[in-house]
Amino acid sequence: MADFRSNGRDFEYCPELENGEIPVVINRRKKNNKPLPTECAFCKNNGEEVQFYKQHILKDLNGRTVCPILRRYTCPICGVNGDQAHTIKYCPLNKSPEPIPLTNAMKRQVRNSAGKTRSK
Ligand SMILES: [Zn+2]
Ligand SMILES: [Zn+2]
Repeated sequence: MADFRSNGRDFEYCPELENGEIPVVINRRKKNNKPLPTECAFCKNNGEEVQFYKQHILKDLNGRTVCPILRRYTCPICGVNGDQAHTIKYCPLNKSPEPIPLTNAMKRQVRNSAGKTRSK
């Protein structure tokens, strides 16, 4: 009997069992009801007029690029534009947040030639 009572108290902490509803806290965590963007973050960042960037969104639900400006933009890294258009920052081939520095390529060359001479 005593056990049962303490159990009941424990359950009181969980509103899910009490009401059969999901508590607000868990709802927040899941972020299921993420609001859809109503403006184009890309154009907003570019400093376009409010009237312009509020008229469209950057991407639709399917992840297709909607923004007319971005659609015209060709990614210099992978050469994609139109539906899949993106900025360098969001390029799937660009793993680093910064553009690939020239020094990286140079380093590689040095390492390669050094390795060759070493193994010989
Ligand atoms: Zn836009
Ligand atoms: Zn790209």
